[in-house]
Formats: sequence, C-alpha cells, structure tokens
Amino acid sequence: MPTNGELKTPAIETSGSTLIGRAYEFAKKAHAGQKRKSGEPYITHPLAVAETLRAWHLDEASIIAGLLHDVVEDTGVPLQEIQKKFGDEVAFLVDGVTKLNRIKYHGAEETKAENLRKMMFAVSRDLRVIFVKLADRLHNMRTLSALPPAKQKRIALETDEIYAPIAYRLGMQNLNGELHDLAFPYLNPDKYLWLKGLAEAQYESRLAYLKKIKPLVEGELRAHHIEPAAIDFRAKRMSSLYKKLLGHEMDIDKIYDLVAFRIIVKTVEDCYTALGIIHQLWPPLPGRIKDYVAMPKPNGYRSLHTTVFGPEGKNVEFQIRTQEMHEENENGIAAHWVYEQKKEGGASAQKITEEIRWVQQLRNWAHAHLTPEANPEQFLESMKVDFFKDRIFVISPKGDVFDLPAESTPVDFAYHIHSEVGDSGVAAKVNNQFVPLDHRLHSGDIVEVITQKNKKPSEDWLKFVKTSVARDRIRAALRAKNKRLRGEKTSKTELKIVVENRPGILKDIQGIIAQSHFNIAGINTDQSGRLLIMRIQLETSDKQKVEKLILKIKKLKEVKEIGYRLV
Ligand code: MN
Repeated sequence: MPTNGELKTPAIETSGSTLIGRAYEFAKKAHAGQKRKSGEPYITHPLAVAETLRAWHLDEASIIAGLLHDVVEDTGVPLQEIQKKFGDEVAFLVDGVTKLNRIKYHGAEETKAENLRKMMFAVSRDLRVIFVKLADRLHNMRTLSALPPAKQKRIALETDEIYAPIAYRLGMQNLNGELHDLAFPYLNPDKYLWLKGLAEAQYESRLAYLKKIKPLVEGELRAHHIEPAAIDFRAKRMSSLYKKLLGHEMDIDKIYDLVAFRIIVKTVEDCYTALGIIHQLWPPLPGRIKDYVAMPKPNGYRSLHTTVFGPEGKNVEFQIRTQEMHEENENGIAAHWVYEQKKEGGASAQKITEEIRWVQQLRNWAHAHLTPEANPEQFLESMKVDFFKDRIFVISPKGDVFDLPAESTPVDFAYHIHSEVGDSGVAAKVNNQFVPLDHRLHSGDIVEVITQKNKKPSEDWLKFVKTSVARDRIRAALRAKNKRLRGEKTSKTELKIVVENRPGILKDIQGIIAQSHFNIAGINTDQSGRLLIMRIQLETSDKQKVEKLILKIKKLKEVKEIGYRLV
C-alpha cells in the first residue's frame, strides 16, 4: 500500500551539551521508573512528541516543551523548577499543555464540539501549545492499543471529533488524515475490517496501473519543458475513503481517487501548463476539474485536481501543485516556518459561513503575521492567540462549553445555564475552589454554581455582571420580588357573589366578612332582574382564608353563585 509522504524526522540530540539535550536528561530523570502502558520506559513518549515537533520545524522552545510536557502533571516537578531551568517561555508552554489536558470530551452535538475546539485555542493562548498537544495526541493515538478498551474509545472519539478537526483548521492535512485514520478502527471496528479487506486488493491493482502510465506522463511533461520536481502516488486514507463511500452507495468502483497521481512542479504557471498537457493526453471527466489554486479551500488547501478518462477506459485522478503548496497543504500553519508567504493577488471572494469564520480569521492572521525570516521575535509574538481576546470559554462540570465575554463572572455563567440557576445562585467554585460571585473567569476554567431553593438575586450583582442576559434577568427577578413584597400588604381579592335580592342581604354578607376579620376595600353592586351581582374587594391575597370565608357565605340560602379572583 503506498504511503503518504512524511517529513523526515531528525533525531533529538540527547547529550547534555545543548539546551534540548539538557531537557531530555531532565525529563528522563523525572520520569525514571515510570512505564507506559505498553511497558516501554516513559521517556519514549516525550521523546517521540519532541521528534514530531522537530519534524514540523517548530522552534527550540516548542521542542523542549514537548520533552517536558508531562513532567509537571505526572512527576510532581513544580512548574517553577521548569521556569528556573528552561525559562519563562518553556514554562508557559508546558503550563498551557497541562491546562488543555483538563478539557475532556465525551461526545456531543456538533455545535458543542465546535465550541470546545474554540476553547482549546482560547485556553492555549499560543499556537505552539496546540502544536505540542497535537504531537502528544498523535503519539498517544499511535500507541493506543496498549490502553483498556473504554479509554481507547474515549480518546479515539476525542481525537476524531476535536483534535483532527483542529489539525484540519490549521491546514495540517497530513496530521488530520492520520488522526482520523488512527481513530477509525477504535470507533468502527467492524466497518474498518470490512473496508480493509475491500480496499487492499483495489489499492494494489490501481497502484500497479498508475505505475504503468507514469513514464508516459513524465515524458509528455518533459516534452513540453515541464520538469516535475516529483511524481508520486497518493493513496486515499481509509477514514476518508469510508466517508466517501457513504456518499457513493458503498461502491468502491465509483471512487476515482483511491490512488491518485500527485505531480509537484516548480511554479504556479507550470501547474496550469501541466494540467493542459494531461488534458491533451486524455479527456477530462466533466465537472471534475477543481481549481483550488485560484479558489483555495477554507482551510487554505491549494492544488489543481482533475479526473481523466485514462488508458484501458479507467478513470485517473491527478493532483498538481507547487512544492510550497504541497508543504503547506500537508503541514498547514506549521509550514509557514519553512516558506515565506507570497503575496496572493485577487484572493477569491469565498462565501464564508458563520461556522468557519473564525478559521478564516486564523488563516488570515497566519498569513499576515508568519514571516519567520523577517524577525524571529516578532514572529514568536505573533504565535500568541489573540483573536479570541474579547471572549472567554469556560466549561461546566458536565463538560459543556460556554462562550462568554471577557471578564464574565460566575453569575453571568449561571444565567447562561438557566435563569433559575442564576436567580438561585449562592456560591461558585472555579476549578474546584470556592470563589466570590464577582470573580473574573478565565478561558479553560471549570465553573460550578451552587444554588439554594427560593434564593433571589441580589441588587449588588448588577454592579459586576458583564452580560446583558444576566443583567436583564436580574432586573426582571428584582421587579417580580418587589411586586411580591408589595403584594403581601396590598394585593386584593375580589369576591363575585350572585344572590336573590332581598332587603338586608348585603348587610348580612358584610357581617360575615367582618366576623372573619377581612378589610373591605370596595363594593360594587349590579341589579339583574331579581338577582343582585356583588363585587366585593377584600384586602388580602390569602387564598385559604378566602375559601373558608366563601364556605360561610354559601350557607346563606339566597346565594346562587360565588367565586373569587386575585386583583
Ligand atoms: Mn503526553
């Protein structure tokens, strides 16, 4: 089976003569005696994470943070010691990864998953924290078989629904694909086995076919003075093949890009020339030419795609791109370390849905900021995630994410859960510690509100709440409370009594009311034939007492009808 091209992974120097080597020594000592579930010494894990970060061309601080990322959480070495030995930057990154580890995902509808992804960015505050976490997750997924089944499922689900999409958003297509592929057998074991059986033979025969026509393609390009930097084959990943099959009646013969040609050329012009040459060789299938160079995908993916009617009546997909596009497609924002961004004239006016707007923001920001050669300090500064600076993301103990304005308090949080939770809130815990109700929340905080029945909001809350939702509901609750307070003294009940009229009947009824110690606020009477309709207002809202009174009045034989209402 052909493999997808991966970056070379230079080894991490492990001798103590460099800062990275010293970090390795330090981590090895801290984790001494610890074993992974697989039985290997624990240090193999942070070492693998650091190697991945190096392969992504990340900076020294990130690689060191990769080596040290589990030291604070798993060995009890205080963060201050990391800070003293390796500096503020490394300590900040390690702390960020520790904070991300607090966020756990057990599956939810898509909007909640999206909020959780945003929260990851907000909590990390520096994209390098996300990169370290992604490298950590990649190695954990590669070694997932050693864990107990329940844990495998949870981690695979979290990877599939949170981390792989984050990699996609960052344009790290290779990582996105590998994470989905690693999760697939754990999430859908039966479907995975079925597909593996189906695809393996197909892969082999299609690859053999492409290899056969490769010299023809190569020769034709050269004849037109296009010197391809590389022509290789891209096998569709199992997870993405499965998704595609779902839309094609599970018929693998309808999947034209199971194995595709990937042609790397030198310039953008060469991409279009190569496309023309391919189309002269074999006619394209209608509707299958995709120009992601002029119109990149929302995550920044750029390439030309076409499917042609190839020899022996078989369909063949070609993907054509420059080396720079290729590197960016595979490694996304991380690739900005390697290539300086070219100015792209006439960027396509893409329809950006609300859902992907923040991703677009991320891309634009990366394009605007990430020019490593220019000024390394400025470049690192630009890794700070500041596009969520007006929002914070906090999480309930159940794992629901709430997106609030910066400086929100537990009271704001409570009103966002439910107005009743807000109204009856008496205390709050943040990350398991009690805090005052006007405490300012931060991204990543786990917030819990303690409620008490019949508790009402305090007017003081209006002084510190940040959201209009909370403010409006507090005001509404205060208004209702005041009304009730007034009501206990002044609200009234109106009796409606229909009686056969006779002299003195009103006086008799008034007598009964007086005996029961009610104050009469007003009386209205209406004559209707032989009947008298009385409306008597009493200064009370006590239903029980009113009902007792009604029973007494009913004993008068003239009473035809009696009822009451609060006014
Ligand atoms: Mn780890």
